[in-house]
Amino acid sequence: MIRISNLSKRFAGFQAVSDVSIEVPKGAFLVLVGPSGCGKSTMLRMLAGLETPSAGTIAFDGKLVSDGARSWTIEPARRNAGLVFQSYALWPHMTVGGNVEWPLKVAGMGRAERRARIGEVLGLLGIDKLAERYPNEISGGQQQRVAIARMIAPKPGILLFDEPLSNLDAKLRVEMRTELLRIHRATGATSVYVTHDQVEAMTMASHVAVMNGGRVEQFGSPDELVAHPQSAFVATFVGTPPANLVPANAIPAGHPLSGQGEGGAFMFRPEELFVDEAAGPRTIVLDYAEASPVAGRTMITGVSKDMRLTAVVDRAPTLRVGQSVHFRIPDRPAALFSREGALVR
Ligand code: ATP
Repeated sequence: MIRISNLSKRFAGFQAVSDVSIEVPKGAFLVLVGPSGCGKSTMLRMLAGLETPSAGTIAFDGKLVSDGARSWTIEPARRNAGLVFQSYALWPHMTVGGNVEWPLKVAGMGRAERRARIGEVLGLLGIDKLAERYPNEISGGQQQRVAIARMIAPKPGILLFDEPLSNLDAKLRVEMRTELLRIHRATGATSVYVTHDQVEAMTMASHVAVMNGGRVEQFGSPDELVAHPQSAFVATFVGTPPANLVPANAIPAGHPLSGQGEGGAFMFRPEELFVDEAAGPRTIVLDYAEASPVAGRTMITGVSKDMRLTAVVDRAPTLRVGQSVHFRIPDRPAALFSREGALVR
């Protein structure tokens, strides 16, 4: 449904997106996730037609919509794609109903049909009672719903979301994730969703592209990314909590892995580390930083100048900030990454 091939975007001397190739089927929920400045918004803007690629192509449903080689792109309004921004960009002088009606008018839909469609989408979003209100008379969460209603009203085949939940409070944000997935399914559209929040990415996505420095570091399902991270960056970016990396030179001398790894780093999952009462030949001693309950277990984090380890354990010793915490490193790592962060095994 969406085919992105060798896509790049260069701004006056700055490479924002480098050689990205991704393909997702119809109905997919693709999440572009990565740290600030990694190029995810630029990717979404190219998909929306707001930005022309420097190289590469984008095709929707087998139809070319952008071609970097020809500096050619179909304008946003003619793409069959709807866009929702972080700022909802509602028309302040129009009612909720008026905002939702606007794209339908632009599309040339008749009055009776428009009325019916407005009722339908406001119902789907659970805001049918707000039709006569103005944007400044409703809450931020309700404005968000209006923006989504306006986007889906003309039945676009592709829904594009740029950090749509980042202005909402934590509880509402979690509720809206489920809500957005319900709407995604109800419309049958293919969605592309940009966020810097990996938890949001991992809970919502059918397909995730983890971006870093303009490149896609890894593309796959949330489960694949956690089970088989292909780079040190992905290993420490995804997961709740993310995996631990222990530099090979920090492995204690008495440990079976000592002397292996050649300047790289071993990966251990938080549930594979143990917390011991005292130092031993297989422990790394760090400063206790924090503990918090997770689903009946305890998550314990220790830090040093250049390492941060997190263990999830059943029974945790009582620790205070300033104390040492002893992490016992298992004999077998879940993965090994090279000095450059590439997967070795
Ligand atoms: P954030 O989460 O902070 O929004 P992002 O991953 O969405 O970040 P982009 O907005 O895509 O990142 O920007 C990627 C890089 O391209 C950034 O370094 C940004 O400064 C640069 N960039 C974006 N737009 C332009 C522009 N119009 N001109 C020059 N550089 C730009």
